[in-house]
Amino acid sequence: SAVSAASATCSKSNIARGIGRLTDLVFTSGKGSYVQTTCGQSLLDFTTGIGVVNTGHCHPRVIAAAKAQCDNIIHSQVNIGYHVKKLELTETLMPLLPKNLDTIFYGTTGAEAVENSIKMARAYTRKHGVVVFRGGYHGRTFGIHVTPFPFTYHGITPEMAMNELVQLYKDTLHEEDVAAIIIEPVLGEGGYCPAPPEFLKQVRDFAHSKDALMICDEVQTGFGRTGSLFACDSDYYGDIQPDLLCMAKGIASGFPLSAVATRREIADACDPGMLGGTYAGNALSCAAAVETQKVIQEEGMVENSRVMGERLRDNLRNIQSSAVSKGLIGDVRGLGLMTGLEFAKEAEPEHHNRLLVGCNGRDGAVNGSAVTPTCSRTITISRPTFPEDRPKKSIDTANLNAEDIESLKKSDP
Ligand code: PMP
Repeated sequence: SAVSAASATCSKSNIARGIGRLTDLVFTSGKGSYVQTTCGQSLLDFTTGIGVVNTGHCHPRVIAAAKAQCDNIIHSQVNIGYHVKKLELTETLMPLLPKNLDTIFYGTTGAEAVENSIKMARAYTRKHGVVVFRGGYHGRTFGIHVTPFPFTYHGITPEMAMNELVQLYKDTLHEEDVAAIIIEPVLGEGGYCPAPPEFLKQVRDFAHSKDALMICDEVQTGFGRTGSLFACDSDYYGDIQPDLLCMAKGIASGFPLSAVATRREIADACDPGMLGGTYAGNALSCAAAVETQKVIQEEGMVENSRVMGERLRDNLRNIQSSAVSKGLIGDVRGLGLMTGLEFAKEAEPEHHNRLLVGCNGRDGAVNGSAVTPTCSRTITISRPTFPEDRPKKSIDTANLNAEDIESLKKSDP
């Protein structure tokens, strides 16, 4: 390993504690769906770096493209000129985007994509306010108005959520205040909950009826994770045609890059100088992104995400109804490989922790997979869409009793 276990322990104490970290693992390498740690563990990575390495860790074609780009140019600064790979990426992305969107801005992080989409919406509408949905996560940068996301498992039906949005306008906001309503088609950090298709359409129509724009934040759902390239353009959601679409994470397999796609008239509301960023649309990231798009298409990863996601949820539902779960799994939901498992109210923190501990390769359960808790009782499972690298070993059964094992065998031999 590049970092010895001793020095890794020492330098950890120099890292700011403001980052909520799920594990204490130190990673040395990643290949396909697996990551290796300084302790010599090989773990099936269900987190994909929170929906980033959709092509698997260190896909050889993406790495080769990035290495080749290093020999050409790494940084050319957005305010100085274009670079070839940005233009190539734009040409690659354009036919993949919802058909109403024809203009792209590149940034570096998801938060930047969201922030710049809001900047454009404000410039275009000449209004200021922004409405977001409770549980939504759009980065760590700005102030907003919050309204409930439709979350049937938590008693919030789509009708209730829509009524709350209407009520928010009546009580607090004025039509002339709100520039945009921003929504994740599938709630990410808030618990992997897909919005019903009808709800997304209602939100779009409501926004337009108030002269506000609809921003789809597909930072986490984009690039195949939900079983379609973009959720807002999928068979499941239909042709939503958002006014602005935010992308990041899966766009470049882990190289920092984000983008906002919109209509020319909206983008042009921002005069030169209003948008930018030193590393925005970095050449290395764009080269990786061009190859990422080819790999996603040519290796059938979108379809794989849809098929594997259905299989994952079927099996999780089997476990949910089996003796193993003892009624502790309340809900299994998701789209594609963006799948969430939520504990029932009866579950104690100990059950939650037991699964996480087992999954994190502690307590001897080395062959587990890393999972991400996204809200207090939810675990998200979003393993790479990498098709060749499916889990080959079975669950470590050391801590299970005979009844549990029988039940597991039935749910997935
Ligand atoms: N939007 C969504 C839906 C996200 O999930 C995230 C990150 N989890 C962001 C925006 C912010 O992205 P970044 O961390 O790259 O700034």
